[in-house]
Amino acid sequence: MPSYREWISGFRELGLGPHSRVLVHASLAPFQPDAGGPEALLGALTATCEIILTPAFTSETLVVPPFGPAYNGLRYGDHPANRDAVIFHSDLPVDPLLADLAEPMRRYPQASRSGHPALSFCGLRAAQALAAQSLEEPLGPVRWMAEADADVLLIGADHRRNIGIHHAEHLAGRRQFVRWALTERGAVTCAQFPGCPDGFNAISPRLEGIARQATVSGQEITAIPLRDLVHVAAGWIREDPRALLCDRPGCERCADVRQSVRADAGSR
Ligand SMILES: [Zn+2]
Repeated sequence: MPSYREWISGFRELGLGPHSRVLVHASLAPFQPDAGGPEALLGALTATCEIILTPAFTSETLVVPPFGPAYNGLRYGDHPANRDAVIFHSDLPVDPLLADLAEPMRRYPQASRSGHPALSFCGLRAAQALAAQSLEEPLGPVRWMAEADADVLLIGADHRRNIGIHHAEHLAGRRQFVRWALTERGAVTCAQFPGCPDGFNAISPRLEGIARQATVSGQEITAIPLRDLVHVAAGWIREDPRALLCDRPGCERCADVRQSVRADAGSR
């Protein structure tokens, strides 16, 4: 794994500095197993940037009711996830896919975590971004970061992990979903839940000239101005409401977005 110094020089090569705000998506799997570890990455981010935010989602809090709204990207009824669902609390571990950075960050004394039971974010010097989240606006922190001229950072992760694109989908008016999560107050309704990210890599060619690359331990890392990313992705979805959906047979969420597009076309 890259050392602290390698991360620092990679971030400099990306043009990041003391005024940078970053929405980070990191997976350390593609990097060599060696000295360093997640603490080196977290330390280098903290030393380089002003505001650091990363998704700290907890999908194991989600439950599925017997009935609910139609075209909601899921099948209702006795869902296997219901048996293992847990109540959200601020120390609940982050989903394994997001854990490489979010877990050490969550335990970092200076870090804070927002309180959304399924879509929380973890941040350093990010109080305002975290405060922009509510049950009604789960991606408020992403909106705040875009308005604050943040960059999206992709480290060992591709666009399928890019939460900035989910914010663009919401802005473009794409169908969002309703989910339910367990809290100490009981199950709460989580509105504006984002859809499936499996088709998001199709955005790459449209970001040429916007995205910046650097190499750390032989792996490319990428920074993209969040505001530009959202502009490109939302513009594309407005032009083609099926843009960035996946082709996986049986994807309930993408199927229901396609259905909503057909319904819109039919009502015109
Ligand atoms: Zn899909």
